[in-house]
Amino acid sequence: MTQDLLLFTFGPIQASLSAARRTQDIKTSSWIFSHFAEVAIQEAQKLGCQVIFPQMPQSGAATGIPNRLVILTEANQCAAVAGELKKAIEEERDKLSGWVQVYIKSTGANLNTNCWNEQLKEWLEFYWVGVQWDGQKKTYGAQFKTANLGIDSRKTVRHYPTSTQLGERCTLCGVRSAISDDDTFWAKIRQRAGGRVIPQRERLCAVCATKRFAPKVLNNVGLGEGFPSISSIASASFRQAVLQYWDQGTGVIIKEFLDVTDKLYLPAAHIVPTPFFEPFLKGTDEDIRRRFFDLEGAYLYPDSYEAQAIQEDTGAVPDKDDIKRARQLLENLKEVLTHLGASATFPHPYYAVLKVDGDHLGALLDGIASQDDHQKVSRAISQTAANIKNLVETNSPGRLIYSGGDDMLAFLPVDCALRVAQEVRSAYEQNLAAEGFPNQTASAGLVIAHHKTPLQSALSDVYAAETMAKEEFDRNTLVLNISKRSGELRRMSLHWSSQGTAAPIDALSELRSLIASDKLSGKFAYELEDSSSAFEQNNGYTLFKLEFYRLIKRHHSTEKWPQKTEWEAFANRFMRLWDYIPRIDDASRVKELIKWMLAMRFFAQGEHS
Ligand SMILES: [Zn+2]
Repeated sequence: MTQDLLLFTFGPIQASLSAARRTQDIKTSSWIFSHFAEVAIQEAQKLGCQVIFPQMPQSGAATGIPNRLVILTEANQCAAVAGELKKAIEEERDKLSGWVQVYIKSTGANLNTNCWNEQLKEWLEFYWVGVQWDGQKKTYGAQFKTANLGIDSRKTVRHYPTSTQLGERCTLCGVRSAISDDDTFWAKIRQRAGGRVIPQRERLCAVCATKRFAPKVLNNVGLGEGFPSISSIASASFRQAVLQYWDQGTGVIIKEFLDVTDKLYLPAAHIVPTPFFEPFLKGTDEDIRRRFFDLEGAYLYPDSYEAQAIQEDTGAVPDKDDIKRARQLLENLKEVLTHLGASATFPHPYYAVLKVDGDHLGALLDGIASQDDHQKVSRAISQTAANIKNLVETNSPGRLIYSGGDDMLAFLPVDCALRVAQEVRSAYEQNLAAEGFPNQTASAGLVIAHHKTPLQSALSDVYAAETMAKEEFDRNTLVLNISKRSGELRRMSLHWSSQGTAAPIDALSELRSLIASDKLSGKFAYELEDSSSAFEQNNGYTLFKLEFYRLIKRHHSTEKWPQKTEWEAFANRFMRLWDYIPRIDDASRVKELIKWMLAMRFFAQGEHS
């Protein structure tokens, strides 16, 4: 039976995701596009079409449904179906924008709806290609490939807004004009929404305003406020350690600390806990634990206790003694946690952004022979998407922006970033292998940035790092980018291991925790760096290995790590990394390996160590 094979896609996703000032912005953008994809899938099913890709996630919550749909329609119906899908998404867009308009008008701000609607109309782009398929198993692959090539050439024809953009530009996207340049307009909205949602100098276009206020009007459909700030994410492991050792001494300190933060009128963040945090919120003093969990993460850093900044945030003049006391109590926490041997003893000033993307998925799809195979890939991707959510939010204190299965983006505290990167990469490979597609790899970009630097630069860095992993190092690679607050940039790379061999990333995580627990002094990496010129010759590997063993021997703690067999075994595991450094000559490999060691010291101790 002849049918039409329809490929349908829409955007612009990447431009939307990178126009983000707050973590909540990027989460909302991702949610909206995922929601539109869900609407299109439902519409296709309502029209009696079969959706081959993507598979809907098992449990509701739209977190990263891919925006590229593959659908089977009745013969000669692809154009009509594509039109209906577009209409369904546009109706959803208008519904959302309408609710946000009502919200803005309810603040008393005088909104020009004509200008608003015009900007919204030019926001989304749609592309589709349909080809006929005779229903024969053997012709499916070729027809899909034709459609796939067709859509890529359609996408190179970019749409640009046709209406003239006058006046002040939107401070978020910089593309469209702000919906108003009148101060009182924004002041009225700020009064209702709060200064954290719409800061003093922010001037938004209709699209960015729709995204910014969507969580205010969409609470009941799965998108709420309460996505943690960068500071809350950076300090998540510290927060976990405090909760974990509550009965051993941190609880007493927190009780006094919260009394002080109350006196200072510090704001609650209203963070919705992930499954990872749930067990830590149970036990003694549950109410107080939750109050502590709810404190904005920025206030876990002693340097945030500064009179003028607090006054700007809270509107109240803080008492100097309270400020001093809060700082002191945070220092006490660090001491107690160090004494107890916690893995995180201070809130790390840096956070991680992780982006992982499957390699050659397009080629894999181009090569599939049947509709059945296509559904197998679809199932593996959907399974990976579900696994990724667990890896980030149940097994780790991270936050997921989206997880489409073949790609993902997440924010993580520094200490678990490498482990999660490795786990995501493995899940992708294993799920595809389980469906009969072995040896699939993925590339990753990991960016470490300071919690007080603009989010936008970390986001563009992570896209660049992932592109580098794919293009410069020929895929199956992790590129790590550390942007110090001082402006210094360190970049390093590592190939993933192939299936079945000891994972090299584990040795790095091990080094990080050895330094964090003082079993090994972080100094050894600096000493290696100092003598690095000695290894710039052909037998660099042999010389480096000898020096590495000598320095481990010298800098390990005889008290905390006395077993010679243990540190020798670690040294052996670590030296295996050598084969995974994507450099040809010994001298460059040594340099790269030393960079990784210094990075692990930085992961463990932060800047001031
Ligand atoms: Zn904008």
